[in-house]
Amino acid sequence: MKAIQLLAHGTPGKFELRNLPEPQPQPGEVVVEVRACGLNHLDLWLESGRLPVPIPLPRTPGSEVAGVVGAVGDGVAEWKAGDAVAVQSNLFCGACEFCRRGDDSLCLRGELLGIGCNGGFAEKVVVPARALVRLPAGVDFAASAALTLAGSTAMHMLTHRAQVRAGDWVLAIGGASGVGSAAIQIARQLGARVISTGSTEAKRTLAKNLGAEFVVDSTSPTWSAEVRKLTNRRGVDLVVEHVGGDVLPKCFECLARGGTIVTCGATAGRDLALNLWPIFVKEQRLIGSYGRNRADFRATLEWAATGKLKPVIDSRFPLDQAPAAFAKLRARNVLGKLLVQP
Ligand SMILES: [Zn+2]
Repeated sequence: MKAIQLLAHGTPGKFELRNLPEPQPQPGEVVVEVRACGLNHLDLWLESGRLPVPIPLPRTPGSEVAGVVGAVGDGVAEWKAGDAVAVQSNLFCGACEFCRRGDDSLCLRGELLGIGCNGGFAEKVVVPARALVRLPAGVDFAASAALTLAGSTAMHMLTHRAQVRAGDWVLAIGGASGVGSAAIQIARQLGARVISTGSTEAKRTLAKNLGAEFVVDSTSPTWSAEVRKLTNRRGVDLVVEHVGGDVLPKCFECLARGGTIVTCGATAGRDLALNLWPIFVKEQRLIGSYGRNRADFRATLEWAATGKLKPVIDSRFPLDQAPAAFAKLRARNVLGKLLVQP
């Protein structure tokens, strides 16, 4: 079977379309024939070698898989060839203290598909059967691959790690990104008033079309002051933040008394200086969020099936063009998701 493999880290990394042996499922595993796989910032970290763990190469990237069940291993009774499925990318053990209580985002033996093992930029991928969720009617492979990673990340942030009350002000950073575009839609569905940010006119227009009431220009040095002005200087109740770096301290400037910032990703930087004074004086919270639980993953697909959460697809690439998709995401020249469709 064909797969795109990373042979050497770099910017760009060295990729090659290779012929690999047919994957064989071990007991409890399933082979999924990949129909669509979304590209994420995680893939860029793998490409450049900027993950905090060493990755043995070659590696097939690709975390956001939708496809059809092929061969099944011994002991797998709930899946048969031909079933349409999405794969939860944070592979979890199902047995540790955290998995047993449903917090598989905290799994002690968790592994990321396409990072810790070969992923979905391939014709086939082998995964544990427990990572599969059936695609609901009305959600096709492309929609699933465009929503399930970033969409369920946003679902986890907005419905599990933080709570949104009707009428709350929610600031969704980067409204044209995977997490941002889902966060706008989820916050709106929960009854919030949404402000978003975007670095170009096209990105700001997309954020508005997804339901943001106001969208500020994130390249303006005064964007956080504009957010305060939009809320009559009160500030927002919740910030959905996935950039880190210089952006996170700015988010505190946007935050109301008693407000919460929920953060994941840190794509623009992991180290920052924080002024603790407003955090305790204004009783604010900074909450981390990592991936998703099974419940968030299922909810994301259910919301997609009922039209409450719509995928935003920028473009699709055949398998052999996957390196071009990496280049496009790296250039941040993207409105919504990039998909690879083997
Ligand atoms: Zn576990």
